[in-house]
Amino acid sequence: MKKAHTAFVGLGGNIGDRRAALENALAVLADADGITVDACSRLFESAPLGMERQADFVNAVCRVRTTLSPAQLLAELQRMETAAGRVRGGARFGPRALDLDLLLYDRVQCAGATLTLPHPRMAGRRFVLAPLVEIAPEIHIPGQGRAVDLLAAVAGQKCRPLGGVLYSAAAAKKN
Ligand code: AMP
Repeated sequence: MKKAHTAFVGLGGNIGDRRAALENALAVLADADGITVDACSRLFESAPLGMERQADFVNAVCRVRTTLSPAQLLAELQRMETAAGRVRGGARFGPRALDLDLLLYDRVQCAGATLTLPHPRMAGRRFVLAPLVEIAPEIHIPGQGRAVDLLAAVAGQKCRPLGGVLYSAAAAKKN
């Protein structure tokens, strides 16, 4: 049996029914071969960074166990974005129905043409760190420091938890 790895995936979107887009993404992720979703944060609402004249985003972070390699997992996430109507080549940091980022994969550190780990912008984003710390309070981001400490440094960014559970790993167990 292949070794299972732990990865964290950031989810976001700011077009249409944002909660439904993320719920659907989690269901598709949980159903994919070689991936088990074992925890998910609440939903957070955040003000856009980078390109401000657009709707607020909703964001969440989930933890997965996976037998896929980092490159295979990223390819799977990109397939899901495309299936959700995402057109590549649009404005960077612009509006999107579904954005999936591979944040962390075990303690892997790499910088390649298509994949950088940890995710290169995660340490400065409250909308990533707040949900991440919710499901992994002790987590350390390789090369950057403890997520809780990084979170304190971006406390000025607008981001607030929304009510309700987004995803229940127990309810979604694969047969
Ligand atoms: P974005 O617009 O944030 O979805 O950026 C997607 C681009 O970032 C793609 O070209 C990816 O190949 C690249 N990328 C590099 N590292 C990562 C990562 N850890 N997670 C997601 N995309 C990544």
